Amino acid sequence: MITIDRISELRITLDAARRQGKTVGFVPTMGAFHAGHRSLMHAARTSHDFVVVSLFVNPLQFGVSEDLDRYPRDLEGDQGVAIAEAVDVLFAPSTAEMYPEQTITAVHVAALTDGLCGRSRPGHFDGVATVVTKLFSIVGPCTAYFGKKDFQQLAVIRRMCSDLNLPATVVGCPIVRERDGLAMSSRNEHLSVDEREVALTLYRALASAAEALASGERHAYAIQHLVVASLASDPGIQAEYVEVVRSDDLQTVEEIEGEVLVALAARVGNTRLIDNMTVRVDAGSAAVDLGVMIESEAPCAAR
Ligand code: AMP
Repeated sequence: MITIDRISELRITLDAARRQGKTVGFVPTMGAFHAGHRSLMHAARTSHDFVVVSLFVNPLQFGVSEDLDRYPRDLEGDQGVAIAEAVDVLFAPSTAEMYPEQTITAVHVAALTDGLCGRSRPGHFDGVATVVTKLFSIVGPCTAYFGKKDFQQLAVIRRMCSDLNLPATVVGCPIVRERDGLAMSSRNEHLSVDEREVALTLYRALASAAEALASGERHAYAIQHLVVASLASDPGIQAEYVEVVRSDDLQTVEEIEGEVLVALAARVGNTRLIDNMTVRVDAGSAAVDLGVMIESEAPCAAR
């Protein structure tokens, strides 16, 4: 595994790999690796001859009052994880390498960014779409792996690739959760022991909605209300949004049919967390996808 911090060096390395007929699997990240990141690296390793992981905390996607300065950073630890996952290249550019001058070009994906995190984090997805476009332009033809934990981000990037004919095939991977259900996140590092306990309510709220769906509830408002009430039951949680939307265009639904996303964002102390599940209603029965539990990789059950 080599760590590269120069765009030109990464291009030379990847051109050489492609000349040898190698296919490229690419995992864009902001570092502070956990089992969610590892699952993406593993998926890329399983299907590709050459695996590149980018590690860049992108200032463009943080709002002025957000946590750019306190975002967890651990290059040495991340290099160890990348070695363990048999990654070929860790691309860790500086901010000056990625943005040598003030950027006056941005990529904006409309409609899909109106709700959910797009509403509460104005400009966030422009920052994401812009940096991912740059990364795809640097890496070149590849299969890129993203987590469904950031479901809206995945939808935005898929659509951006399709609209702009970017040479990346986008693959969405399941949410990886701790053994008790908490979705893995680099920001979990900020939680105190007590806050860690409170944060579990996010998963429990989704799991209770999953049970209601299994029992036949099909009204989106009822599901939304159930999740809101679960979050409100814990005074340590400040809910930001709970939305029930179609999973393809992220538009609000009234009835749950086809594939639907139940997504939430909430603050626990100073830490903003997101979580979601997808539901597919087919011939009357609802199949809920909450992701997989760490280690066992068993699908998460409602409980
Ligand atoms: P980040 O470093 O938080 O920007 O995340 C990099 C990639 O890892 C994104 O595609 C995320 O969706 C994905 N990811 C983060 N957390 C998880 C998780 N718990 N399960 C699966 N993928 C995740």
